[in-house]
Amino acid sequence: MAPMGTSSPESLRVSRDEARLAPRVHRLHRSLIEAVLATGTVPSVQELAARLETTDASIHSELTTLAAADYLARGDSGQVSCLYPFSTTRTPHIVVIDGQPRFAMCSIDALGIPAMLGQELEMSGRCAACDAPIALRVAPGTILTATPPETMIVARRDEAEPAFAACCPFTVFVCGQEHADAFARRVAGTHALSLAEALTHAEAIFGDLLTEEIPASRPRGRHWRQVRDA
Ligand SMILES: [Zn+2]
Repeated sequence: MAPMGTSSPESLRVSRDEARLAPRVHRLHRSLIEAVLATGTVPSVQELAARLETTDASIHSELTTLAAADYLARGDSGQVSCLYPFSTTRTPHIVVIDGQPRFAMCSIDALGIPAMLGQELEMSGRCAACDAPIALRVAPGTILTATPPETMIVARRDEAEPAFAACCPFTVFVCGQEHADAFARRVAGTHALSLAEALTHAEAIFGDLLTEEIPASRPRGRHWRQVRDA
């Protein structure tokens, strides 16, 4: 495998002249993130339409745009099930925000949340191989503490499928190198990263998610390719 972690975070960021999300779509995205931060759930289409003073049809259309751009995924009945980096249903990756548990889609998404919010946060998870508890304290740019200290990430990216289907179940915490190797042997296409390497990837993907403008499609896949091929 090529050495990882050699690219600077700056080299992974999207250049300024790339297409941006339309302002009304961006406004909906921001409302969804704020709702999940405040309540852990996504409001109904009707509530969103009332809040943003628009029609249900517009909200549906903007949700479709956000899904196509890989900022969210919807369940069979159209409800938002995943709003990267957050899941609207319980996952093993818990980030405590203002004293409330919020669920991340995967371990890398969890690590991106402190930089996204500009806050030091506690998070917890389970080793995907032995179910041992894992606890982290993470500030933007820094893993402050990890228990156990040998905690690592195992990750997979499959760009042919949406991340929530192909990758999230295989982007997990593990308690150390031994269980990283065990998991990687079990699931094809995965490999282990140190917490510091994973934090760099996570911040490149999520660090700018709450800025004034965001790209017309979520930059996750390209970032990953650059890192992998570095
Ligand atoms: Zn383990």
